[in-house]
Amino acid sequence: MGKRTSTTQQPTCSFCGRTMPTMYTGIQENVLICDECIESGHRMVMANSKNKQTGTQGLSLETLPTPQEIKEFLDQYVIGQDNAKRFLSVAVYNHYKRLLQEITNDDVEIEKSNILLVGSTGTGKTLLARTIAKMLKVPFAIGDATALTQAGYVGEDVETLLVRLLQDANYDVAKAQTGIIFLDEVDKIARKSENPSITRDVSGEGVQQSLLKMLEGSIVNVPPQGGRKHPEQELIKVDTKNILFICGGAFDGIERKISQRMNAQTVGFAAQEAAAKIDKNNLLQYIAPQDLKSYGLIPEIIGRLPVLTYLDPLNREALRNILTQPKNALTKQYKKLLAMDNITLSFDDDALDYIVDKALEYKLGARGLRGLMEAVMMDVMYELPNHKRVGTVPQTFTVTKAFAQEKLEKADLYRLKNAV
Ligand code: ADP
Repeated sequence: MGKRTSTTQQPTCSFCGRTMPTMYTGIQENVLICDECIESGHRMVMANSKNKQTGTQGLSLETLPTPQEIKEFLDQYVIGQDNAKRFLSVAVYNHYKRLLQEITNDDVEIEKSNILLVGSTGTGKTLLARTIAKMLKVPFAIGDATALTQAGYVGEDVETLLVRLLQDANYDVAKAQTGIIFLDEVDKIARKSENPSITRDVSGEGVQQSLLKMLEGSIVNVPPQGGRKHPEQELIKVDTKNILFICGGAFDGIERKISQRMNAQTVGFAAQEAAAKIDKNNLLQYIAPQDLKSYGLIPEIIGRLPVLTYLDPLNREALRNILTQPKNALTKQYKKLLAMDNITLSFDDDALDYIVDKALEYKLGARGLRGLMEAVMMDVMYELPNHKRVGTVPQTFTVTKAFAQEKLEKADLYRLKNAV
């Protein structure tokens, strides 16, 4: 590439069209480029090659949804949980900004924002993580911390999670390296007492240590098909530095730790006034990192899960909305199924209220709604499609309260309770 400085003719840059004092020629003599266009071209090439290395090809700062857009997307699928949605949206947005950050010369390095969701089982933790991955179209894997054991013990290794992520990314390692892993039940690997014990704690601290390595970012050798490693097997190297970890846990009984800490803090008159404002029915909203430590998570893990948020328990209204509002709400699914047989299905409001009452009565939670609906709908789904054989397809069917009552009285709800 040759350099040409201004001549009497004032040449213009073939790319931006401006007249610049310094121009360069390339392979073709008559094509000129100014230094500003070279610089911006260089930035584009660097960003593109970084994207290839980090697997962020599909994402760019322009197309990356903003936190508000992420939350609006979540609202279409998940009822309530506003606080968790806001925290998640910002953390996920920042995570992908971190991956897309331009190579700059400053020393400001954006740290990873792994997330910990604390909330009772069946309140939407997995659903939130799954919905985010769906929106961003990034590889996603779900694991259960209870299945994990320290390397060498019988059970799943932490690496199994990476195998699942690789499979979801069709073995595109770069893509998998920017995926999301949802790890449920992290509370189950908490150490049983706050003081480190000298005896080995197979299910607790050892697993926390292996998990920590992944959260911190390390290169893990993964057997391609999963399972145990064989000496002669070729291993795939997966760097976990840019994988976003969303951990979830019910942390049963942590409310006691929260209230103990809050009681210790509330000394004096002003503090008593503050204490009066505390919502004792939902103590999880006050959760702080030190409560996790009291519960038995090691400080290093807590430090690697800097975004801590909670899920609200689902009340009657939330359960009722779950039946009808989400984009793929249960009632919409049954309507779609029957519409394929040319049957218009509808539900009376009091029938849905009745189903929610049963979910509350038997403490089945949101997860139990599906079983209840299935029990109500089973006979309908068995019988109605047959009409198309005899040519008398009924056009409508309405699930009334009396109908739901008749079906649920026959169903074994205690069996349903054990299933959720
Ligand atoms: P968790 O991970 O907290 O144990 P899940 O996300 O697996 O719970 O929820 C179980 C099921 O219950 C979901 O698949 C969904 O159908 C329903 N559900 C739970 N919480 C919500 C919610 N907030 N909004 C909509 N559906 C929900």
